[in-house]
Amino acid sequence: MAARHVVVIGAGIVGACTALLLQRDGSRVTLVDKGAPGEGASLGNAGCLNGSSVVPVSMPGTLQQVPRWLFDPMGPLTIRWSYLPMIAPWLWRFVRAGRPERVQEIARALRPLTAPTVEMHRQFAREAGVEDLVRQVGHLHVYRSDDAFAKDAGAMALRAGSGARVAELGFDDLRQLEPDLDRGYVRARLIEENGHCRDPLRLTRAYVELAQRRGAAVKRARVTGFRRDGGHVVAAFTDQGDVEGDAFVVAGGAWSRDLAASLGDAVPLDTERGYHVMVSGPEAGPRTPTTSFEGKFVATPMENGLRAAGTVEFAGLHAAPCWDRADVLLRQLQAMYPGLARQVPEARVSRWMGFRPSMPDSLPVIGPAGRVGNVFYGFGHGHVGLISAPMTARLLSDLVAGRPPSIDPAPYAASRFG
Ligand SMILES: Cc1cc2nc3c(=O)[nH]c(=O)nc-3n(C[C@H](O)[C@H](O)[C@H](O)COP(=O)(O)OP(=O)(O)OC[C@H]3O[C@@H](n4cnc5c(N)ncnc54)[C@H](O)[C@@H]3O)c2cc1C
Repeated sequence: MAARHVVVIGAGIVGACTALLLQRDGSRVTLVDKGAPGEGASLGNAGCLNGSSVVPVSMPGTLQQVPRWLFDPMGPLTIRWSYLPMIAPWLWRFVRAGRPERVQEIARALRPLTAPTVEMHRQFAREAGVEDLVRQVGHLHVYRSDDAFAKDAGAMALRAGSGARVAELGFDDLRQLEPDLDRGYVRARLIEENGHCRDPLRLTRAYVELAQRRGAAVKRARVTGFRRDGGHVVAAFTDQGDVEGDAFVVAGGAWSRDLAASLGDAVPLDTERGYHVMVSGPEAGPRTPTTSFEGKFVATPMENGLRAAGTVEFAGLHAAPCWDRADVLLRQLQAMYPGLARQVPEARVSRWMGFRPSMPDSLPVIGPAGRVGNVFYGFGHGHVGLISAPMTARLLSDLVAGRPPSIDPAPYAASRFG
């Protein structure tokens, strides 16, 4: 019998990992992407491989913060006024996801996706010949005051409650670990199990290339819809002609909503746009990836420089980037590591904006489409797509193969918003 042909829409980190595990099951895979592999959100993220990333973006008290987001365009989280009518229904669900009991459920549902991240990426990276990209030196959270340290206790308790070991560090231990860090940081927490990737784009490309060496086809085309035959999809329509297949995986990141809608599934997917700034040849920086509690960004030592990545901007998929937000990150990075040059020459700075594919409850959509038998969704990973891509791929490959799933897929159902 001919091998099952699976068409994976989207060659970001989720589609790339999924292609590899589908191949392991003997499937023939075609990856279809409207752009070059890895150049969506997977290009410029902070690189964190944090098994401890179980804290949803919406937490108790979120509602009170919404007015500030509207009036501070340079704040760590902001909503463009022009996008407010579009994002309002999503925001309402987002606020509701921050109820204390729901937050506990979300953390419990995230942990099975995030916990195996370092081990699974290491395995993929070894097979792809880029093992050097995956490191495991922990993740630091740093605070400028005891008050800030105390404010983060609820989120840390969620991480610890999910099984991550959190160590508390005082001023001297912190200096020893991070000599370049500004002395204004007085407390820290270290989560040793966490890892990071030193170049998420190179990692994603390497996975796609490995899939190609194993026989996958990579097609550059935009998927616009699906051809059905009864309760099944038989082909994806693209701007380069139809792509036929036996099963289909939608891993189109922030652009997946319309594809799901064309199959009859209304999913509240939107985008939390995020930014990074990179400084090549930095004079100072962290040894361990470090989250600034006050700035809400991560400073990560990458193979080509120091990256500060983070912040959230609700402005949809079409508005132009606001590069001032990346410059705010640069100033914060300089304040965090005073040894960095005050005036970094432009040639050493690069800026990027990417579209996190975000669901209001910070949980991805992983599972079968509601109305057709052979389409599976793997999108909506928000802040944890790099982390949870390998386990998402495992779950999707189980579902495509018709095996009992490795983890309970119920929390990620497309239908959970009714
Ligand atoms: C600033 C920032 C920092 C982040 N930091 C981290 C971090 O440290 N750790 C972490 O785990 N996550 C992080 N994330 C989130 C992470 O980057 C995303 O969750 C992840 O990259 C999503 O992967 P994906 O494969 O679903 O989407 P993408 O990488 O966006 O890939 C989707 C692909 O689908 C293609 N596509 C879409 N629609 C179509 C179509 N109709 N036809 C054909 N192709 C299509 C796109 O071209 C794209 O290549 C961060 C994100 C940002 C913005």
